Amino acid sequence: MTLVQTNPLAQPLVEVRAVRHVYGNTGASGLLVLDNVDLTLSSNEIVGLLGRSGSGKSTLLRSIAGLIAPTQGVVDFPHGPSERKASVSMVFQSFALFPWLTVLQNVEVGLEAKRVPAEERRRRALAAIDLIGLDGFESAYPKELSGGMRQRVGLARALVVDPDVLLMDEPFSALDVLTAETLRTDLLDLWSERRMPIKSILIVTHNIEEAVLMCDRILVFSSNPGRVVAELKVDLPHPRNRLDPAFRALVE
Ligand code: ADP
Ligand code: MG
Repeated sequence: MTLVQTNPLAQPLVEVRAVRHVYGNTGASGLLVLDNVDLTLSSNEIVGLLGRSGSGKSTLLRSIAGLIAPTQGVVDFPHGPSERKASVSMVFQSFALFPWLTVLQNVEVGLEAKRVPAEERRRRALAAIDLIGLDGFESAYPKELSGGMRQRVGLARALVVDPDVLLMDEPFSALDVLTAETLRTDLLDLWSERRMPIKSILIVTHNIEEAVLMCDRILVFSSNPGRVVAELKVDLPHPRNRLDPAFRALVE
């Protein structure tokens, strides 16, 4: 029983090909962080990226998000909208919220670069806040919120632009175990009930259990330099599959 292979609608959304990244100069004193990384993200899948601290996972996510340009190789969006940044959103480990802005304003920031009219910006931000369970906290400031709620703001800000792909960089590792569990479950519910327009999630973690719990595929990353050295297909009826007709057909 392999769920991964029962995904007839899969189409590639992101293709990372032969990506190499060097910090500093490209000579002997530069720091080679990514070496020949290949990966494809397809629709209808959650992919985990599992690797040690310092192995280049954040660097890889930043290059997929277009925040840095890889030294060599390509990040391609074969089926995405022509504007790359419109199709990818990122959630950060440390939330990266603006402390001087309210929850609503922090979420609206996600739409600021897109010249969305103020009224629509507000409407979409409120919808994202509601979706992520922060209803009633619109006027709160980050310092008034718990870590879990701050990360919900980070998630709402990422979702407000309706991205195709959600890149999550250790999104739960700054949270206590119970809070992380709640947030993971809520995210998986939104995903399996298709209440977010997200087509694919790439989640970085160094928590094997989390990867097994959430992902359809796990890419194992080596350090020095970062490379994908193994791919594990997760063959468990994990939470997000409970509403999946393909899974039900297998077990019923
Ligand atoms: P991970 O997310 O897997 O912990 P990172 O991608 O953050 O790994 O970092 C990989 C390596 O690159 C580390 O050795 C880190 O110190 C280095 N590094 C990360 N960002 C920069 C930067 N902006 N300039 C120079 N070195 C960096
Ligand atoms: Mg990192």
